[in-house]
Amino acid sequence: MHSKNSGEIKRTRYLFSGTVQGVGFRPSVYRLAVKNRLNGFVQNIPEGVVAEVEGPPAFVDAFGADIRREHPPLARITNIECTDLEIRHDQNFQIIPSDAKGHADVHITPDSATCPDCLQELFDPANRRFRYPFINCTNCGPRLTIINAIPYDRANTSMACFPLCRECLVEYENPDDRRFHAEPNACPVCGPRLTLLNAKGKPVETADPVKTAIDLLFTGHVLAVKGLGGFHLSVDAGSIEAVKKLRSRKYREEKPLAIMVRNIDQAMKIACVSPEEEILLTTPQRPIVLLKKIQNDLISEFVAPNVSNLGIMLPYTPLHHLLLKDRLTALVMTSANRVDEPICTGNREAIERLQGIADYYLTHNRDIRVRCDDSITFVADKQPRLMRRSRGYVPQPIRIKHNYPCVLALGGQLKTTHCILKGRFAFFSPHIGDMETPQARDFFQESLTLMKRVTKSDSLVIACDLHPAYYSTEAARTLPAERVIQVQHHHAHIVSCMAENQIDGDVIGLAMDGTGYGTDGNAWGGEFLIANETRFQRFGHLQYLVLPGGEKAIREPWRIAASLLKTAYGTSWKETARQLKLIPDETQMDLFDKIIESKIHSPLSSGLGRLFDGVAALIGLRSQVSFEGQAAMELETLATGSWESPYPFELLHKTDQSFILDMSAALRAIVVDLESGESKEKIAASFHQTLINAFATMMDEMRKVTGLTRVALSGGCFQNKILLEGTIDKLRFSGFDVYCHRQVPTNDGGIALGQAVIAASMIKKGF
Ligand SMILES: [Zn+2]
Ligand SMILES: [Zn+2]
Ligand SMILES: [Zn+2]
Repeated sequence: MHSKNSGEIKRTRYLFSGTVQGVGFRPSVYRLAVKNRLNGFVQNIPEGVVAEVEGPPAFVDAFGADIRREHPPLARITNIECTDLEIRHDQNFQIIPSDAKGHADVHITPDSATCPDCLQELFDPANRRFRYPFINCTNCGPRLTIINAIPYDRANTSMACFPLCRECLVEYENPDDRRFHAEPNACPVCGPRLTLLNAKGKPVETADPVKTAIDLLFTGHVLAVKGLGGFHLSVDAGSIEAVKKLRSRKYREEKPLAIMVRNIDQAMKIACVSPEEEILLTTPQRPIVLLKKIQNDLISEFVAPNVSNLGIMLPYTPLHHLLLKDRLTALVMTSANRVDEPICTGNREAIERLQGIADYYLTHNRDIRVRCDDSITFVADKQPRLMRRSRGYVPQPIRIKHNYPCVLALGGQLKTTHCILKGRFAFFSPHIGDMETPQARDFFQESLTLMKRVTKSDSLVIACDLHPAYYSTEAARTLPAERVIQVQHHHAHIVSCMAENQIDGDVIGLAMDGTGYGTDGNAWGGEFLIANETRFQRFGHLQYLVLPGGEKAIREPWRIAASLLKTAYGTSWKETARQLKLIPDETQMDLFDKIIESKIHSPLSSGLGRLFDGVAALIGLRSQVSFEGQAAMELETLATGSWESPYPFELLHKTDQSFILDMSAALRAIVVDLESGESKEKIAASFHQTLINAFATMMDEMRKVTGLTRVALSGGCFQNKILLEGTIDKLRFSGFDVYCHRQVPTNDGGIALGQAVIAASMIKKGF
């Protein structure tokens, strides 16, 4: 027998790291130690949770196996370190107080949807928390969004001003209770309360704010409802008038609105729900899931006009459950903000900023400390994918392959997020959004403070985009840093995909999106790259296109269609444009021709997003868009459900050995189809197939030249399910190993990870 162990007794020290504090981990260790008749202790320490257990070796091993299997739902163990120690003859097993010397490596837990136990109590008339809108326990409730500082103790949260009543305190201190050390623990006696305010912010006299709120929703009013990471604007999703009212007040004419439905059964009456989608809808993260609409009379068509998908989520706070319990089946739940501004969190802030939009405010006195929008997901190739990674996911880190030096990456201009690399983890900020308004820029700064708090790190290296005019690039210059590393947008996209898939070395990168600043000063976005963590080569790209009038062309895609025709038909393009009635004012035709010719105020773009815009305009889908990506979404909707043969295209070999994907032949074929009266659906489906074929042909060429077989897909265009699934299938069939995004968005919400890994790799390699 080993000298450390005397006879049949051994003592083992377990160090658990990851998300292990504030999630009921110690009580669960306690329970399993007692179950296996072991003595010793469990304690929170700066590195995580430490347990020392002592007893017969078989029992210690059984404990080790149990804890790997049975840890509490919100815990995420990233590492378990075991060491055998001298035995100490402990007489019992104890939970001993925290070692308070900081909580350096402990991960903060994301917010989590109301658990089944709390839900059962919420609707149990005999329970002391019957219909209490703030019920929670160690397995559920607010986390990140109530934290001011770490360690995660009640005193450091917005629950600090609610001293626990005697009954709540007993629960809080009892290791056998589900509320042992549940920091947001509360009840109607000691906890937060709801208030209903009118449009002017004056309290509405009511004994039951929830019931009155339901009445108001039922009669078509717009309510601002305080949630976990901010306010929602809410209306009855079944009422055409209410939905229209909300749209006109929010100046949001067509962009789809997310809805919250009572339960999974109701969701299935509104949309097709696959088994994978059902899992995603019901996870404790409770994201919005994009689902295919089905014919129903529960939801007004104005919720998501002209698109096949609907963003649906299930209730995730007790208040949501109360609102949707009986009379209301589905509520529009859209982030409470004005166009391009971040979500409102403070009560006063909401009343000020939502003036003229909300009729009433259903609010409460528990402050939101971290702004956090709903996350948005979809399922493609049977895997869950994130379009927006925020509430429920943040600040859970993403594990990466290598240990990297600390870097802060600032993201891009749209769908901005920040990312801090620390050791083998990448920590993302909540979704910050588009950097167009002063409020968004304030949120950007707010997020930097949060990131430092979450990771306890002060990064001296900052990574940002190459674009000289992005707000994040400007910010990088003003922040205190030893070094700022600028990263090309699509290189960042590809390395982000590599990082979350834990691969490194050279890969083929297929980066398809709207726009990103290129090293030649043009707007890139249809890029075929050979890339690794430090370098990339532009092997090929989508043919450059003149964007007549720059930004204007993005809002008015008929301009792009005209430019495409000019590329495809040369001088005779005007004839075709005239036949298709493409240009709103034909007297402008010659002027327009000159603009494209001379490229005045008309940048060059290789963005696939722009090609989508142009094709949508060409087939008469729309000549104007009201939000980014609208034309592409509608084109995808048309193409859904049918397979059509692809159009021709050409790969042009340039003198500098790079390739250009020229879609002129496809454009001409589309015009022929239009002239012979083919349906828009057929054309849209063929267009998607053409792109998939073109990608595969280019990948073959790249494999021939480089010998590489791994392909990383990234960029906003891969939110298009037809394009993503079609490309994956085609490339797999041709023998490629295909990697795509799952944990971070494929759109610009994910580029901060790529920026951070590229900068950190450059430092590591001494560049
Ligand atoms: Zn619970
Ligand atoms: Zn209480
Ligand atoms: Zn991008």
